[in-house]
Amino acid sequence: MSIEIQDINKNFGDFVALSHVNLSIPSGKITALLGPSGGGKTTLLRIIAGLEEADTGTVSIEGVDATDMPAQKRNIGFVFQHYAAFKHLTVAKNVAFGLSIRHKPKDEIEQKVKELLELVHLDQFADRLPSQLSGGQRQRMALARALAIEPKVLLLDEPFGALDAKVRKELREWLRRLHEHVHVTTLFVTHDQEEALELADQVIVVNHGRVEQAGSPVELYDEPASRFVMSFLGEVTTLDSHLIRPHDITVHTSPVPGTVAGTIERSMRVGFEVRLSVRPEGAVDDSRNVTVNLTRTFARALGLEDGGQVWLEPEKGATRIPLLEPVAVPESGQELDSAVA
Ligand code: ATP
Repeated sequence: MSIEIQDINKNFGDFVALSHVNLSIPSGKITALLGPSGGGKTTLLRIIAGLEEADTGTVSIEGVDATDMPAQKRNIGFVFQHYAAFKHLTVAKNVAFGLSIRHKPKDEIEQKVKELLELVHLDQFADRLPSQLSGGQRQRMALARALAIEPKVLLLDEPFGALDAKVRKELREWLRRLHEHVHVTTLFVTHDQEEALELADQVIVVNHGRVEQAGSPVELYDEPASRFVMSFLGEVTTLDSHLIRPHDITVHTSPVPGTVAGTIERSMRVGFEVRLSVRPEGAVDDSRNVTVNLTRTFARALGLEDGGQVWLEPEKGATRIPLLEPVAVPESGQELDSAVA
């Protein structure tokens, strides 16, 4: 493992930003730190980089205890959401910066900058100023600059956060391809679940300063450890007191024993999908409506229409998490059912 984090705690005053964080971040892979705003992702990244000090706990990088090591000694490349480029320096000089301050020989710097600009497809922009680049190009320059020092670890804090959706998607694919070339251990912060699932080999879900779950994108999506993880990693609805994904529900148009009967209140076309809002039998308002997603072809074949009766059933093997979890009461030995928020 490249980065080992053991029992990190961090408070800001009496606010708990990180609580008992233990993590292993694999060498040469892309890991995503995913979670809602304010969950502690940036704080954790800054502690790994040495820009912030933890109250307790240790960080080791490639087997070396880095807990008390200054940031400059950690050999880490860092890219922020808003890249602070040197405005008066050309793209090439910005990329060369880390090498220049390390007093590398001039021809070595030139060669390295050339290679890096080719790698990030900015070779024709070497003599431009950062202000003459698009947002996506600037982030690529930031990556080239971070990679110039040949870091052991690359930390990216919402690197594409300030860009529009299309450019984000392009850069995501581009970063994946770049990683296939350089294989540097990469840890990036995002609150975008699609970005994490698409780009990362390992995803760590962080919420309220705690690690909710760590695993491969498939593990997290198919076997979420909590309702929070399940809801954060994709769309969910409620069927028969369980959280379930709307595309994991089978729709029948005639009664089937053991299924949930209901009426289609609304059906909506969303791209290639049809989204149904089904009010279960006996529900007094739409607060308990079940959302079902199915393909347009399938919806047509079933002849589904607003006001029609349907019977809903979880698909075989669907991921489901009960809404009510039993809470053990050790004193009496009894178990109570209580809704856990
Ligand atoms: P975002 O996605 O919004 O950047 P995040 O998950 O990266 O969120 P952090 O930036 O790590 O979250 O912040 C975690 C919590 O710690 C937040 O509530 C934030 O207000 C608080 N916090 C961070 N830095 C400081 C600081 N220097 N002083 C006080 N509180 C701080």
